Amino acid sequence: MTGVQKRIAAALEGRYDAAALECVKKALCTELLGMSQLQYYTGEPFSPDPERELMFDAALQRLGAGEPLQYVLGTARFMGLELKVDGRVLVPRPETAGLVEWVLSDCGQTGTLLDIGTGSGCIAISLSHLLPSWSVQAWDISPDALQVARENNLKCGTKVEFRQRDILSAVCSDSRFDVIVSNPPYVTESEKSLMEPVVLDYEPHLALFVPDDDALRYYRAISDFAMKSLNSGGRLYFEINPLFAHELKDMLERKGYRNVTLRSDDFGKLRYIKADTDDRKGRTDKG
Ligand code: GLN
Repeated sequence: MTGVQKRIAAALEGRYDAAALECVKKALCTELLGMSQLQYYTGEPFSPDPERELMFDAALQRLGAGEPLQYVLGTARFMGLELKVDGRVLVPRPETAGLVEWVLSDCGQTGTLLDIGTGSGCIAISLSHLLPSWSVQAWDISPDALQVARENNLKCGTKVEFRQRDILSAVCSDSRFDVIVSNPPYVTESEKSLMEPVVLDYEPHLALFVPDDDALRYYRAISDFAMKSLNSGGRLYFEINPLFAHELKDMLERKGYRNVTLRSDDFGKLRYIKADTDDRKGRTDKG
């Protein structure tokens, strides 16, 4: 280990397991200090410029206090894109990439899509990037989050249209959509005690939590709205809390959705659900 790497390991001792510490070390050395991969791996002598060294010291302090690496770096990778992130939005989770992949695998050449509760914009922007002929809209209640999402839209060269909307108040839209997708808040208050301080202390609670006695509040509001706003043959996709997977499936079926299907994430947890507005299987936007 080089001197810099030793300094990082000492400052962050006990905070990460070995694999995570290796990622943090590499990110700090290459992305913040500006080392090449070769310099990082061979320990070839390297002298950072003083400005970068100051940034590095500040970063080490923030990480030592428990802040997420992505906030400290100011960026997170998602579906091959580099997105800006800070305390105004959640760090995009690997699970959410699974949701994007499911939506993507069902989408044809063109259509209209809405992402509700967009946060950093990760779902809407990655889908717009991968489906350039689709028209993509994204909503969030938080003006702060929308500011980050708009910056990401510019950064990625995508053309998502953003609107500030609260899905819990009676929203109406003059547009209709082929696909509605959402990763709404779904962690119950009583699950807080199981969460890592890195999430609890730094990420926006508005984007995470729901009351214990109304865990499906966003799913109810979004599925009612989607029933009115999806085109015939339209599809609704959610990221979900595995604890409420079956309750949610029943709710969507009671509301009249068809082909309600649960899917697991890479960790084997029921993490996604998809529902159709009707079962006219012949009419899809494929092709
Ligand atoms: N999956 C996220 C977490 O565990 C929560 C995302 C959400 O509430 N939509 O922190």
